[in-house]
Amino acid sequence: MSKCCGDSNAGAKGADWPCEAFGWFDDMVSHCLDYATEAKASGRPVVGIMCEYTPRELILAAGGVPACLCGGSAEMVGPAEEQLPANLCPLIKSTYGYHRQKANPFLELADLVVAETTCDGKKKMYELMGRTRRMHVLELPQKPDAAVAMAHWKAEVRKLKEALEELFSVEITDAALRDAIGLMNRERSLKRQLAELMRADAPPLTGRQLLDFNTIIACIPCALEHYAGAIEQMAGRAGPGDCADRVRVMMTGVPVPHGACRVMDIIENSGGLVVAMENCSGIKPICEDVDAAGDDPLAAIAEKYFHLPCSVMTPNDSRMELLARLAGEYRPQCIIELIWQACLTYDVESARVRELAGELGIPYLRIETDYSPSDSARIAVRVEALFETVRGKTGRPAP
Ligand code: SF4
Ligand code: SF4
Repeated sequence: MSKCCGDSNAGAKGADWPCEAFGWFDDMVSHCLDYATEAKASGRPVVGIMCEYTPRELILAAGGVPACLCGGSAEMVGPAEEQLPANLCPLIKSTYGYHRQKANPFLELADLVVAETTCDGKKKMYELMGRTRRMHVLELPQKPDAAVAMAHWKAEVRKLKEALEELFSVEITDAALRDAIGLMNRERSLKRQLAELMRADAPPLTGRQLLDFNTIIACIPCALEHYAGAIEQMAGRAGPGDCADRVRVMMTGVPVPHGACRVMDIIENSGGLVVAMENCSGIKPICEDVDAAGDDPLAAIAEKYFHLPCSVMTPNDSRMELLARLAGEYRPQCIIELIWQACLTYDVESARVRELAGELGIPYLRIETDYSPSDSARIAVRVEALFETVRGKTGRPAP
């Protein structure tokens, strides 16, 4: 047995677990590190990724290990600010702080970092990081409805394939791509099934516990087994007593990397239950699979990833469509939008989300913050006020 499979009962949360399989995810980071270390020792390259536009299938088909490098630590912001402006998204600063401090073991293991031209802060940060790390930056076109944009993106994905082949001296065959598509589709399907448990009136887990099922490395075999085990144990099971009485929340906005879950904790500690996360840490990247039956697997991969409804796209109508669909499926009583400070694309787009919430008749709250806990009390007051409004509408008292 690989060391990364570990003991699914190891961990510190014990009785708080929603299912036995959860124990593995309680120690997810160390399991992922064991996996990456073993893979590297056996000759597999580790490839760092920074964004959900990166087609993990290509890295897997090249024999590589795709590891997410997005920083969620407030401690890494200070070292980053020695070079980056203070008025920059904390996700970018934390990621860069890890780079400067050499404190992210996955980044230190990485043979290559793959990134995309998404928001301005990220792409300028990549220039600095690229001075000392091997990087490949995909040029992401930002008009999702333009045919020329899709053609350009497919060419960029092909260039990444060629770069991986040359760097790692491998041929990425169509058969290898199809295997990787099958693997990633399986992971997406399992994660969708886990997310769908939250549609119940009394879900068997909290939104925070669901978030903890995320992994830094995609498609680790024992993680997939644990996903399947968790679904089997929790499907159809009602959650703890107050689950049905909490205020159902849909979160949207920026991604919530590992370690940056403060706002979500405030929401759930204030009587809320996050039943849907539309963002890149939740449903957005897993709601569409790669077409496994297509003639051209590389084109099918490019198409799936280009459909991701991120705010860097203009227009980004499909995000509004996704939010409206999720509102129907998960029945949130309010929408809370999280904006990392200085994230201009999500911040500007929040006007459209607020309008949509109005059309759906769902109360809306926008929270702009960073990784520092200094405004936690203020956020809790605003969240509690929102929940009072919701309870006033439904006539339901606080649990
Ligand atoms: S929010 Fe946009 S830029 Fe950020 S990880 Fe998701 S797709 Fe990438
Ligand atoms: S949260 Fe916004 S500013 Fe930060 S990396 Fe993502 S898109 Fe860029």
